[in-house]
Amino acid sequence: MTIARRPYVGRFAPSPTGPLHFGSLVAAIGSFLDARSRAGRWLLRVEDVDAPRTVPGAADGILKTLERFGLAWDDEVVWQSTRLDLYRDAFDHLKAAGHVFPCACTRREIADSALARDGSRIYPGTCRDGLPPGRTAHAWRVRVAGRIAFDDRIQGHQEENLETEVGDFVVLRGDGQFAYQLAVVVDDAAAGVTDVVRGADLLGSTGRQIHLQHLLGHPTPTYAHLPVVVNAAGEKLSKQTLALPVDELGAADGWFAALEFLGQDPPEALRGAGLTDVRQWALEHWSTDIIPRKAAGTAGKM
Ligand code: GLU
Repeated sequence: MTIARRPYVGRFAPSPTGPLHFGSLVAAIGSFLDARSRAGRWLLRVEDVDAPRTVPGAADGILKTLERFGLAWDDEVVWQSTRLDLYRDAFDHLKAAGHVFPCACTRREIADSALARDGSRIYPGTCRDGLPPGRTAHAWRVRVAGRIAFDDRIQGHQEENLETEVGDFVVLRGDGQFAYQLAVVVDDAAAGVTDVVRGADLLGSTGRQIHLQHLLGHPTPTYAHLPVVVNAAGEKLSKQTLALPVDELGAADGWFAALEFLGQDPPEALRGAGLTDVRQWALEHWSTDIIPRKAAGTAGKM
């Protein structure tokens, strides 16, 4: 039986923690090309749910940079900071179904646990069946169980045993902030996102996100995790290009460098061409089959 595919909806979801760097430009261009080359919609979401990490003015700078690079998005920009009620609803739903529990553990108390692949600590389960006597909860964790498997369009088959490799993870933090993992799942589902194209630093978050999708009854999008810029996959680029803040890169040069990085093999003749020509070439030739697989870089997210 063939299941009719929903029309393609993609997105770029930068965190406004500073100016756009080359790695984020690669994610923006990769997700844009994947969506537009399949006549899909491409949405923009500013991930400012983590208020303490949000840098004032950074989001505006990112939007201006995207415009300068000819990366035009559909619809209004979605700001996570305006959507806390939706995250609260999702949390309440998880709570009513018994999927979350309050946790009193401090960072120090779980500092001896093994490391998950994204650098966070695998939760040892201390508060899973109730708070230890006399302790006060400060965060809420979601219970995990079983294995999550998915086929990444670039990185291939992925499998994660959530219990042994991740552990129950935080969805509502001690400082009252909803965790990135919950916000992403709520927002992608609300926008009808069918295809997530993003940096491989988030590969280690995907199992958690799929778990939340299952608990909240949301469909799972397809995933394509692009190589990250900060490792050997960047060999093709000169050190200088890598180090340049995107704000100092010409738009067509930035596109060319991103296409090279993504293994798209733009012809030499295209070097020095204008933005419109480079973008057009990229749209006509985009292929995820030739993107190098390299996946590294593991910024921890909670
Ligand atoms: N906001 C995340 C970041 O900038 C990306 C989230 C996502 O694409 O799912 O790293």
